[in-house]
Amino acid sequence: MAILKVAQMGHPVLRERAADLTPAEIRSEEIQRLIDDMLVTMREYQGVGLAAPQVHAGKRIAVIESHKNPRYPGAPEFGMRVLINPVVTPLETETIRWWEGCLSIPGIRGLVHRPRKIRVESLDRGGAPQHFEAEGFSAVVIQHELDHLDGVLYLDRMTDLTTLSYQREYEQFWAPAEATDAAPDPEPSREAEA
Ligand code: ZN
Repeated sequence: MAILKVAQMGHPVLRERAADLTPAEIRSEEIQRLIDDMLVTMREYQGVGLAAPQVHAGKRIAVIESHKNPRYPGAPEFGMRVLINPVVTPLETETIRWWEGCLSIPGIRGLVHRPRKIRVESLDRGGAPQHFEAEGFSAVVIQHELDHLDGVLYLDRMTDLTTLSYQREYEQFWAPAEATDAAPDPEPSREAEA
């Protein structure tokens, strides 16, 4: 397995629509190796998600996983999932706000609103259909990754660019306010790169 180079914002691969995979393609040695390498790469950079275009592969594959770690000691936990040809349907009009970050846009944070609860349909790494519901942080990460498969970055989703911050300034000026914010959010806003 190999740690792959992560495409940085400005690379055209991040702005292209990735291609669907057939079950036979998914089961190929090449794609299975790509999935393994994506998992290793996501963990190496302590991301909570990674989409194939971020490692220069225009395929509709995303991996997600979140555990508490030194970089995000307060990170919500969700198990590893491999999503291939994923389709997301919002289940509520309620949105959740999150300080998103992206391994392809390092060192930057921005506040994004997304549907709080979603249904996900995709194929797994064996090529079999899977479906499940996700809410809160995992729903945010899945939608962030799905956007990557369509050439969309979280910056495109920001409705208020005044929240765009470098990591240091986020921690200095925004994170303390978030901690004391009495806004009735279902979950406090946190941050993560994906
Ligand atoms: Zn990203």
